[in-house]
Amino acid sequence: MQIITEPGQMQSIAEKLRLNRQCIGVVMTMGALHEGHLSLVKLAQQTAGTIILTIFVNPTQFGVNEDLHQYPRPFENDVALAKAAGVDFLFAPEAEGIYPEHYQTTVACSEVTKVFEGEKRPDHFKGVATIVTKLFNITKPHIAVFGEKDAQQLAVIRRVVQDLNMDIKVIEAPIVREQSGLAVSSRNIYLSIEERDAATILYKAIGHAKKRVAEPEYNLAAIAEEIEEMINSTPGCRSDYAGFVDEATYEPVETAETGKEYRLLLAMYSGTVRLIDNAKIRA
Ligand code: AMP
Repeated sequence: MQIITEPGQMQSIAEKLRLNRQCIGVVMTMGALHEGHLSLVKLAQQTAGTIILTIFVNPTQFGVNEDLHQYPRPFENDVALAKAAGVDFLFAPEAEGIYPEHYQTTVACSEVTKVFEGEKRPDHFKGVATIVTKLFNITKPHIAVFGEKDAQQLAVIRRVVQDLNMDIKVIEAPIVREQSGLAVSSRNIYLSIEERDAATILYKAIGHAKKRVAEPEYNLAAIAEEIEEMINSTPGCRSDYAGFVDEATYEPVETAETGKEYRLLLAMYSGTVRLIDNAKIRA
């Protein structure tokens, strides 16, 4: 496995791979690699012969009061995990290489970024859309694998790829969970044992929503309220949002229609740690 830090060098390697008719698969991460990230690599390897894994803690997608500076950066361990997973190129640029002096261009996607995570974290998805576009241009992939764990992010990326005519196949990887149901996340290391235990309410809330929709209960707004109540009545936990969107358009939905697919989007705090989760639910 080769480690590359210069965007220009990564770009010329990608160009050579393309000239040699290699199928390039990219997996983008912020590092602190875990089972979730590695499942994306495995999925990419099913289609692509050459895998580029990117590690970049992108400053422009963090809000002023967010955890940019505390974000875990266990680089040596990440290198070992990427190597063991069969990654071919690890692209780990410095912030200065990605956003040099006088940098001033962004990619902004509109409607899908206005609700839920986008509403709570202004400019977050502008940062995501921009870095993903830049990393696409640097790694020149044929396919790119993203996790369903960040479902709204995936919806934004799909929009950007389609709207800007990017010739890249976006593949969605299912959420990897711990035995408790808690979605694996680089941020889980911030949780104390008690907070980690309490955080399992998020997965229980998803189970509750699935059961209610299956009854069938069509009042999705009422189900979202029940979920917020479940979370808020768990010691140490506070709901940030809970709600349903139309899986196709990402427009918020209050009443279900039989046969349609919805996405339940959730965010909560366990102690001071913010966690997100989601599930696709068919009415
Ligand atoms: P991150 O490093 O958290 O920005 O995540 C990088 C990629 O890994 C994104 O596409 C995430 O959706 C995906 N990912 C993170 N956690 C998981 C998980 N538990 N299961 C599946 N994919 C995940």
